[in-house]
Amino acid sequence: MDGLWPTFMRRSRSPVSDGRTTVPAAACAHMPVPEKVVLPLQDLPEDSCEVLVTTGEHVLAGQQIGTMGIRPHYLAVHAPFSGTVTAVEQRIHEAGGERHVLAVEIAAAPEQKSAPAVPLSQFSGDRLMFLRDMGVPLDFDALVTARSLMVNCTEFEPTISTRAAIIMNHAEAFAGGLRHLMAATGHTEITLLVHAAERELGARLKAIADRVRGVRLTAVARAWPDTLQPLMSFRQRLSGQAAPAVIVGPGQVFAVYEALELGQPYIRQLVSIAGSAVPAPQTVWLHAGTPLVEILRRAGVSFPFAGRVALGGPMMGGPRYSLEAGIGKKVRGLFAAAGFILPDERKSRFYQSCACIRCGKCVEVCPAGITPIAVVEQVKFHDLNRSLECGLLSCLECGLCAYVCPSQLPLVEIIKLGKLQTRGRESLLIFNIFKTLSS
Ligand code: SF4
Ligand code: SF4
Repeated sequence: MDGLWPTFMRRSRSPVSDGRTTVPAAACAHMPVPEKVVLPLQDLPEDSCEVLVTTGEHVLAGQQIGTMGIRPHYLAVHAPFSGTVTAVEQRIHEAGGERHVLAVEIAAAPEQKSAPAVPLSQFSGDRLMFLRDMGVPLDFDALVTARSLMVNCTEFEPTISTRAAIIMNHAEAFAGGLRHLMAATGHTEITLLVHAAERELGARLKAIADRVRGVRLTAVARAWPDTLQPLMSFRQRLSGQAAPAVIVGPGQVFAVYEALELGQPYIRQLVSIAGSAVPAPQTVWLHAGTPLVEILRRAGVSFPFAGRVALGGPMMGGPRYSLEAGIGKKVRGLFAAAGFILPDERKSRFYQSCACIRCGKCVEVCPAGITPIAVVEQVKFHDLNRSLECGLLSCLECGLCAYVCPSQLPLVEIIKLGKLQTRGRESLLIFNIFKTLSS
């Protein structure tokens, strides 16, 4: 956290105003093969899963090593490179906290070999089942039940540009993915959403829409956040009624093309790495399951300097507690904010005790309009009802309050702990998020 920087410096380094965090759409290098990957087979400890490998086994790139969930509601997980399985055990989840899930660790072999591609023509199930087998992370239930299909080509986070990178650099594959997605889901139309201000991207998408039957282009005045799809799916499960639309991203469309056209499993993902601790913001292809710490080191982040790391961007990215976890399949952004961390012996007793100085900076920056320190104090006093009244469930976990706090208080971590105590109150959470988005 760089809350101790003088205000004028902090403002000039803040994520929104930092011009360095603009990531060029064309920068799509491949990060070299990491020493190891950690591939989780569960999202929550109680989720079912299947392990297909044992410790010591040699695996090839693209070989299936397990599934998240069990048939018919499952998603296959594949080895992103060839190597040796070094552990099948409980590991901390990328969301951290108390959450430990079953994961497979694979160490890279010096020589890389790929498992043979499995074409769709040799598969006995339907296309959606094939996509599950290829490990493409989609909301399969919503894809078949929702009334319409949309591709969100807007970018809500200022530091993420994976969508533009896919469309500008892989337009043919993207167009092919749209055709395959319609064929797989039975939808006859797809709507592409583009931000009205993105003229170059809009022109590229218009050319695609003119060529591919059933594809429409709609310009929107504001970017749409990624949280809309989980919210719609949740509402669908609560109400039992079909969601008005299912929203996918260009990265998923590209993965659909690679799976159905080329028989390639989902073993790589495009990620934007940015933030004031990143010397050169970049958008790179990563091996699935690469530990976060290795990604950041290779991006040039030095750790006493990095104060806060979020999966996503500065606005909606959730705080991370462990950098040893492997990157999840749906992650498109890593945000590392610069920190100014004094060694303990050089901190005054005041800062060692991390007292709130009532400066109000956390209130000033909070996009949810709550008073973060008020929520945190109620959580610390174990007064759940009072913390709910103070807006505990309105918190978007963007981390901006912790980012600016001069006392370096772990505000988001405490808020997250408070939220864990509210399990079973998800409908209240959805209500609060909708309220925040519509205000
Ligand atoms: S993390 Fe929550 S409380 Fe803190 S600024 Fe973001 S929305 Fe507000
Ligand atoms: S929690 Fe931090 S930012 Fe908020 S009022 Fe206290 S010292 Fe200031």
